[in-house]
Amino acid sequence: MVLAKDLSHLLSEEAKARRPSPLKTCIKYFNDPNIIFLGGGLPLSDYFPWFDISGTSPKPPFANGIGAPLNEQELINFKIPRDKIDVAVDEEFGTISLDKALQYGFSQGHPQLRNFFIEHNKIIHKMDKYEDHEVLATIGNTWNLESALRCLCDKGDYILVEQYAFSSTLAAAEAQGVKTCPIPMDADGIIPEKLEELLAKWDEKKLGKIKFLILVATGSNPKGLSLPEDRRQKVYELACKYDFIIIEDEPYYFLQTGQYYAAEDRPALSDEKVPHDQFVNGLVKSFLSLDTEGRVLRFDSLSKVMGPNTRIGWISGQKNLLAELLKFHEVSIQSPSGFSQSIVAKTLNEWGQEGFLDWLIGVRKEYTIKRDFCIDSLYKHIPKKLLDDKTVVVNPPIAGMFFTIDINPEAHSEFKSKYEGNAKLFEQHLFEKVIKEGVLMVPGAWFEAKDYTVTDKGGIEEPKKEIFFRGTYAAVGLDKLDQGIERFAKVLESEFS
Ligand code: PLP
Repeated sequence: MVLAKDLSHLLSEEAKARRPSPLKTCIKYFNDPNIIFLGGGLPLSDYFPWFDISGTSPKPPFANGIGAPLNEQELINFKIPRDKIDVAVDEEFGTISLDKALQYGFSQGHPQLRNFFIEHNKIIHKMDKYEDHEVLATIGNTWNLESALRCLCDKGDYILVEQYAFSSTLAAAEAQGVKTCPIPMDADGIIPEKLEELLAKWDEKKLGKIKFLILVATGSNPKGLSLPEDRRQKVYELACKYDFIIIEDEPYYFLQTGQYYAAEDRPALSDEKVPHDQFVNGLVKSFLSLDTEGRVLRFDSLSKVMGPNTRIGWISGQKNLLAELLKFHEVSIQSPSGFSQSIVAKTLNEWGQEGFLDWLIGVRKEYTIKRDFCIDSLYKHIPKKLLDDKTVVVNPPIAGMFFTIDINPEAHSEFKSKYEGNAKLFEQHLFEKVIKEGVLMVPGAWFEAKDYTVTDKGGIEEPKKEIFFRGTYAAVGLDKLDQGIERFAKVLESEFS
């Protein structure tokens, strides 16, 4: 197998200047019995004010669904002791005792957690195209991007983003003085031909080198789209040809709910256990799995599948690039919280890889039910006339937890007179009215990437004509979801009738 390509020319000046923290380099001696360690400020674990942690979690295969009430036999009870010596031998493998978990060290994540993610990656992404892979446990995808921006970009550099991108991604880039260049999207996500057009015309002398493309390829936020595999392959080939990194930010990867069907055509969701190979083979191929050169960084997170404030995620990619990120982590976050690593590692190792797949299958099923309910509810409440004449278009997502509704402002009787034909003004008006009605949906403008290349060239941005609102079926139960959608539909009815 080949080694990953040297991409060190894509590092930021800051990353190039960073030396490994000297204190971190000597931590390896801490566990060496031949060395009396007087080298670092590591408090004795005797002074940690916790003796153990006990926990209870559901036991695979979660036969009645992941939210179902459980009896004693369907639970796992575990205990994490303070001292490694108290860990039973048969439990050792998955247990990070508190003396280790709460101590400095293992900036890349404790082996019990990190190795679980490495094995998981092998099952899901195969990882068989280059040799020097690495995985870093981190505090989630928000941080992962911050880290990538710091290590790859200098102020004034460009990154490529989806035309409608996760608003925190845009905000993080902007705050670091990194400019975003949007790639046009259609109903399937970014359009490789448009990307190629942009790259072919890119004036590197004037605009500098593009460092990376970041996208939410599966269950995109805000659009709920999933980039088809042929487009992924084309985009990857463009990254190789034009020499930039692809960052796939994939917190929704396992929420691949598939196509929406109206209730009368909908295949019944089976209560049978989904075979793991069927689940794994049915997942859209990740960029990581296509990567032959080591130019993909993949961000995974437990936020949407286990709990957002576990603050556990992981970055996968080539060793050399991840070493740069790790150097930055050593002088910033250091590592995810020891409590969190300890509890999550214990749960995952008790479940095993198979149990984790069962959990992901269960989470996907829940979101499929919620997605179907949500789209049914939209079609039930939005006046048929507005749907028929396409004043309002519902976009059923195929992955993730978001749906969008396109609205044609031109169909509003006062669009030209009262709102001066300005879609943004009208969108803001709708947003405020929807809130007054007692529901929050987010206007599409919040996700719109600004085209800095246009302004760099002295051009003027085209005023946008389209408006849409983003909602989620994640945050509330089915009753409230229906009620919220009814309220939203009421505003549409009153505005357009
Ligand atoms: N990336 C995307 C696309 C998201 O939608 C979100 C959360 O909404 C995040 C990252 C944040 O992930 P994390 O909780 O792992 O920081």
